[in-house]
Amino acid sequence: MVKRTFPIDKFKDLQTPFYFYDVELLKETLRNVVAEAGKYDYKVHYAVKANVNPRILSIVCENGLGVDCVSGGEIQTVLNIGFPADKIVFAGVGKADWEINLGLDKNIFCFNVESVPELEVINELAGRKGKIAPVALRINPEVSVHTHHHITTGMKENKFGINLDQLDTVLDTLDLLSSVKLIGLHFHIGSQLVDKEPFQALCSRVNELQQQLAKRKIQVEHINFGGGLGIDYACPDRNPIPDFKEYFELFHTHFPVYPGQKIHFEPGRSIVGQCGNLISQTLYVKEGSFKKFVILDAGFTELIRPAFYEAYHKIENLSSKEPIEVYDVVGPVCESSDCFGKQIDLNKTRRGDIIAIRSAGAYGETMASQYNCRQLPKAYFSDTL
Ligand SMILES: *Cc1c(COP(=O)(O)O)cnc(C)c1O
Repeated sequence: MVKRTFPIDKFKDLQTPFYFYDVELLKETLRNVVAEAGKYDYKVHYAVKANVNPRILSIVCENGLGVDCVSGGEIQTVLNIGFPADKIVFAGVGKADWEINLGLDKNIFCFNVESVPELEVINELAGRKGKIAPVALRINPEVSVHTHHHITTGMKENKFGINLDQLDTVLDTLDLLSSVKLIGLHFHIGSQLVDKEPFQALCSRVNELQQQLAKRKIQVEHINFGGGLGIDYACPDRNPIPDFKEYFELFHTHFPVYPGQKIHFEPGRSIVGQCGNLISQTLYVKEGSFKKFVILDAGFTELIRPAFYEAYHKIENLSSKEPIEVYDVVGPVCESSDCFGKQIDLNKTRRGDIIAIRSAGAYGETMASQYNCRQLPKAYFSDTL
């Protein structure tokens, strides 16, 4: 894969820090995911919490994907962009009444339900409107995954979903509720998963679960395997597009569908992660007693993943071709955790050099904050710069 070059001359005229999105890469990624999922008629719902920049959302929408929302605000946002309501799934462990009512009023495709009390509230609110709410049960398949503990989601001790041993109770409750209709099962086992094993284990677990449900004469129309496919943070140029072919093939091989059954996915990071870069400028190079610090004008207020999840992002000096030196790369925010990387190899760096923090398209701009009265970052796009 050819190394993508940055329009650094244009960057010089812009106020840093900002997000820079490679629109061509996003479009290529979308074409790829649509083609690979399409082979098996799998439905793809982009997990919008990864990136809600309106331009990004519009491009995703143009490619015909559905969406996975986790709040009423996200539902409003995607409706404004033009996503059809019947392609919206709504997950989240704490849906407020107004959010449920919004979903009901807009006739979204499905509520992914995470507890019995939530099921009862949806039933009550739908009943008041004389509607029947389509629901999928979010089940914890108890598949263990190797990822940061902040981003595992499918285990008993997580706050999300319904545990396997509670499923019968939930189904008993469902029998008593007349304003909800069970249409599917939903799973989401974690994020930034780069091994195939957890997905394979998920398939087996869902197969077993379907057999268990068959005993109660239940066969659901929709299975939603959630998101979680990881991206290559270490080598964004070598692997700019995740291996969607292998990913969907795995599900096709390991998960036999019933006639008429529809399979859904909710990728977030794997769609938008690699197209985004946080562009910043070096304010100072500070020589400490033991190490050198590159102090950027971007901090965790623009990209919180390193501070929050100990996440790795590749860092590049776009201005320098001088020999490599080793630096700690930090931001200006008054917190010690405001650090993008320790002992990082960078071409010799000077004040004013433009630094790119790569693979920042997912959970970057969308998690930005105004801590220290900082401004939210702007975004620029490769095709309109
Ligand atoms: C966050 C989330 C996703 C997307 O996860 P990625 O790791 O970004 O693919 C999908 N489904 C649900 C329910 C989520 O909460």
